[in-house]
Amino acid sequence: MENYKYIFGPVPSRRLGRSLGVDLVPLKTCSFDCIFCQLGRTPEPTMQRMEYVPTESVIQELEQWLETSNQADFITLSGSGEPTLHSKFGEIMQFVKDHSEIPTAILTNGSLLSIPEIREQAQLANMLKVSLSAWDQASLEKINRPHSEVSFNDIIKGLRQFSTEYKGSLMIEVFLIQGINDHQEGVSKIAEYINELDVEKVQFNTIIRPPAEKGLQAVPAEKLQELSQDFNPDVEIVTDYKANPDKRITSSVNSVLALLKRRPCTIEELIEVSGRSSIEVEDSIRELLQRNAIKMFRQDGKEYYLAQ
Ligand code: SF4
Repeated sequence: MENYKYIFGPVPSRRLGRSLGVDLVPLKTCSFDCIFCQLGRTPEPTMQRMEYVPTESVIQELEQWLETSNQADFITLSGSGEPTLHSKFGEIMQFVKDHSEIPTAILTNGSLLSIPEIREQAQLANMLKVSLSAWDQASLEKINRPHSEVSFNDIIKGLRQFSTEYKGSLMIEVFLIQGINDHQEGVSKIAEYINELDVEKVQFNTIIRPPAEKGLQAVPAEKLQELSQDFNPDVEIVTDYKANPDKRITSSVNSVLALLKRRPCTIEELIEVSGRSSIEVEDSIRELLQRNAIKMFRQDGKEYYLAQ
């Protein structure tokens, strides 16, 4: 994983196992500014669709990766912001579909699904994971702080339409934060919306990594369990990532850096994904710290590393 600009990982994903990330937008190019975002604040939420990074270069990198590494559980459009803002994300999905057996996924906030062209491109993915953590416009504005053109009603309308058209696996992620959206009334309303869709699985996530806003607290596992009762699809409660040790992928100092450019990680998580010994990972971290390429910070008693 040397010298790639638009693809990164495979990274340990709590949702997809080992996922090769494809990053189609510059850092925090997003229609939302979620309070729980692990990438920090969105300087200015946008709804502008354009070719943020050259499609041809992304395809060249994927071509090279498929010829050399080619080991991942998923190839996923995710990373630095909202991937469906890239005007040609469908072309990239189509390339992977035509050249690989590895399933594809898109992680999206769903804000553009009311646009027919976006739904058409999104249908190329084997799995679409949509975030839905609000139940009305007010809660959307509090939790996701969207661009002014985004309305809760349009998100629901887009989701309903997509759900009737899509042949792949539709998953919904509900991100719950203590004292913000973890009350039964709100979560039951989210369940009502989801229950009328053709959804394969719901995932409950809560704060595990440091979020954009300080002081946000995780919802305890028992409470998440209680809140899952109203949902018809199976609810998976995700509390931590576990890698399959047989499928570890060798990493390098540069790929550790590429990962830390996109999300904060502990040393334990880096060991899981790289398959290297703790000594080797610690050596990489030491080297990157000496080069001032990364910084360390503490949160909830854990030490996280992040590129700077
Ligand atoms: S969590 Fe996702 S949708 Fe929300 S601000 Fe971050 S990148 Fe955008």
